[in-house]
This record gives sequence, C-alpha cells and structure tokens, in this order.
Amino acid sequence: METIKKKSAKKGMYENVMKQYDQAADIMNLHGGIRKILANTNNEIVVHFPVKLDDGTIEVFTGYRVQHNNALGPYKGGLRYHPTVDIDAARALAMWMTWKSAIAGLPYGGGKGGIQIDPSKYSEAELERITRRFTYALGDNIGPDLDIPAPDVNTNAKIMAWIADTYSSIKSPSVRQKNMHVVTGKPVYSGGLAGRDRATGFGVVVNIKNWAKTNNIDLKDKTFIVQGFGNVGYWASHFLIKEGAKLIAVQDASGTIVADNGIDPESLLDHTKNNSGNVAGFVDAAEFENGGFFGIKCDIVIPAALGNQITEENCETIQAQVIAEGANGPVNTEAERILLDKGIQIIPDILCNSGGVIGSYYEWLQNKRSENWKISMVLDMIEDKIIDAYDRVVETSQKHNVSWRVGAYVVALERLEQTYKERGVFP
Ligand code: NAD
Repeated sequence: METIKKKSAKKGMYENVMKQYDQAADIMNLHGGIRKILANTNNEIVVHFPVKLDDGTIEVFTGYRVQHNNALGPYKGGLRYHPTVDIDAARALAMWMTWKSAIAGLPYGGGKGGIQIDPSKYSEAELERITRRFTYALGDNIGPDLDIPAPDVNTNAKIMAWIADTYSSIKSPSVRQKNMHVVTGKPVYSGGLAGRDRATGFGVVVNIKNWAKTNNIDLKDKTFIVQGFGNVGYWASHFLIKEGAKLIAVQDASGTIVADNGIDPESLLDHTKNNSGNVAGFVDAAEFENGGFFGIKCDIVIPAALGNQITEENCETIQAQVIAEGANGPVNTEAERILLDKGIQIIPDILCNSGGVIGSYYEWLQNKRSENWKISMVLDMIEDKIIDAYDRVVETSQKHNVSWRVGAYVVALERLEQTYKERGVFP
C-alpha cells in the first residue's frame, strides 16, 4: 500500500496564506493601514490543561484558539484535533476563515484552533474529558456573540455537544439555555441544524456543478478521486455520484484504494464505520501500490483531508481538468502556478468549502430564533449563497485577469476594506 506523506501536512501553511494575501493585496491596491491590520491576528490563545486518563495518570494537553479578525462579526471557525495543530497552522486556518466568511457575505470574522493530539490514541471517555477541560480552559474567550467554534478534522457533532454542554453548564442557570449556540455543527436534538453534517461536501459539489456549467461540461460519467473520506470527502462523493460522476480512487490516513469500475461511497462509508474510520481493506476496490495518488487519471480531484498535499513535488503528474478544494490549503502557491499554467482550474478552498460555514451560520440563526428548520430549505439556502459567491469570484477574477483564488481574496478584501473605511479605527 502507498505510504502517505504526513510530515508536510502543515508545513508552510501560514507562509502560503500570507503569499496569497500579499498577491491579492497588491492586485487590488489594498489600503496600507488596512493591509497591516489584516496581516495580523487579533488574539492568539494557547492553553495548557491537565486531564486524568483512564489508567489514572495525568497528562497535560496544549490547545489553541487564534482569532484573526472580527470586523464583520464574531470570530467563526473550526476546532481540529490533530498532531499537526500548532500556532502557525491555527493562524493560517483562522485567516482563511476571515476571507471565507467575507466572500460568503456572512456576518462573521475568522478564528480557528484545536488540540495537538492524535485522538485515535484515546478512549471516548478520555476524549470527552479532554474536550470538556479544553472548553473550560478557553472559558469566556469563546461565546455565542464572540467566537463560535465548529467541527473540523477529527472533531464531530458529539464533540460540539460536549463543548456546548460544558460552556453553558458554567454559566448561571438563568442564561444557560441562551448559550448553546456557542458552537455550531451540534447534533440535531442538541440544537444542531438538519443538513449541517453534509453542508461542506454539498457545497463542494455545488461549486463543481457551477464550474461544469460555466465550462459547458456534462458531469455524467466524469471520473473523480477524493483524498480524505471523513465528513467532507464522504459527502462530496455522495452528492457528486448523484450527478452521474464516478468515484475511482480514495486515499485516507490508512491508505489508498482504487476501482476503475467505480467505488460506491455508501458501501465505503459502511466499511469505514466498522474499521475505525479507515478505507483500507475495502473489499470492492484494490489497494493502490505504486505512483502518486494525485497522478491517477481522472477528470476531477477533490482534496478533502489536510493542507499542503499538492505541492511542486507531485503536481506535475495531475491530469484532471479541475481541483475542487474541499480541504483548507491543500495546494501550495508553487503548485498552483504550475497547475494553472497547465490549464488545470482550481476552485479555491475559501469558496469551494464555504458550504460548511454557511451551514453553521444558519444553525446559529436557527438557535438565536429558537426555531427548527427543514433540511430541504437549508440546502436550498446554502446553494443560493454559494452560487452568489461563485458568480462574484468569477466576475472579479475576470475583471482583474487573475486566478479564481486571487479573485476570491479580492472579493473578501474589498468587503473588509470598505468596512474599515466606513468605521475608521478606534480611537
Ligand atoms: P474528518 O476528520 O472528518 O476527515 C479527515 C479525513 O482525512 C479522514 O478520512 C482522514 O483519514 C484523512 N486524512 C488524515 N490525514 C491524512 C493523510 N496524511 N493523507 C490522506 N488522508 C488523510 O475531517 P473533515 O471535517 O472532513 O475535514 C477535512 C478537510 O476539510 C480539512 O482540511 C478541513 O479543514 C476542511 N473543512 C472541513 C469543514 C467541515 O465542515 N467539516 C468545513 C470546511 C473545510
């Protein structure tokens, strides 16, 4: 089975986001003072907290929350549980959240964080204690009108429910119920939004459909490969299959599987549920032994795992027509230049995976209004917002004759620049 490079998953993510930012700021001639503000993060919170493990020993964990900017509204962004989580990764991911929220026209800023941990090494009871103690350590640095976390790599609805419960339990009884929207991505019975689970993958496919429409391409029988078969990878596969496309290879942390005749995402999901979340060992596909995953011949590549997976070292082999960035930061700036020169289109993360934060916004609104919304309505609203954002990004890219990524940054930065110009800088 192919060995997966884990080391590069976070390397240079912050450097990458700053290069992207500078490129867009130059193109649009971003106001000098505002450029300085947005190049920095507002707050960086690092907490060390002790947790008693199942065997009675005590371990100290390190958690992060970076709040990049809140000019447009409360900080918003996921919490990741992964060994690659550190201050630089959290900074980069928080900045991407600011741009993403701005492009989608949401009243949010950007934040990100998590714990530097390999969650597979801990029992569920330990993960619950780690999560609750992390929430306690963050205290009032998060809050429903201040900073609203959500799921990301290795975190899920159950973890969000523990955070909401812990956060609200340490409030006085009279306001306890008003605090459940301190996080989004909760289970539906705990105030979660029907459809939030699939919002990111659904949004990735809305973008792919827009791309296909713009380029007069029929998605029927188009082949695609997916890296990462967690929340984003599974749901993107689920929705793209519905368009008639064929999933021919999947890579996750456990290995790579291929099947020219197609992989059924529902059977693969069943397999992962009984296999610690891993795709390896799926009987209806072969193990991929040689060559790079991204070089597998296909029409559409969906990276939906970690950052910096497509670099100058492996991008030359890519033969697809489009890369739809489900993950945050999967393509570095050097690889992007090479890919664009080869005529491969890239739907940038800050547009492509924005279905997640848009879904989160609707969950937050639903909670604020004490309502329960129908999934069909939710998916329609997410689709509408993504189509608007997609059109604005394509139009802006054409106007400045730049890539979709730079165009997306310009859309975000124009909105933020305008806000700062209207409000000024205190005092
Ligand atoms: P997840 O934890 O549900 O799944 C992650 C997947 O990545 C797993 O299948 C895992 O095996 C795989 N993976 C981990 N390391 C890998 C490696 N070295 N090589 C190949 N595969 C590897 O996470 P998710 O929520 O699906 O998030 C995936 C990506 O999408 C992340 O970059 C995240 O920031 C981004 N994203 C997620 C959301 C969301 O709503 N969950 C929203 C926007 C963006």
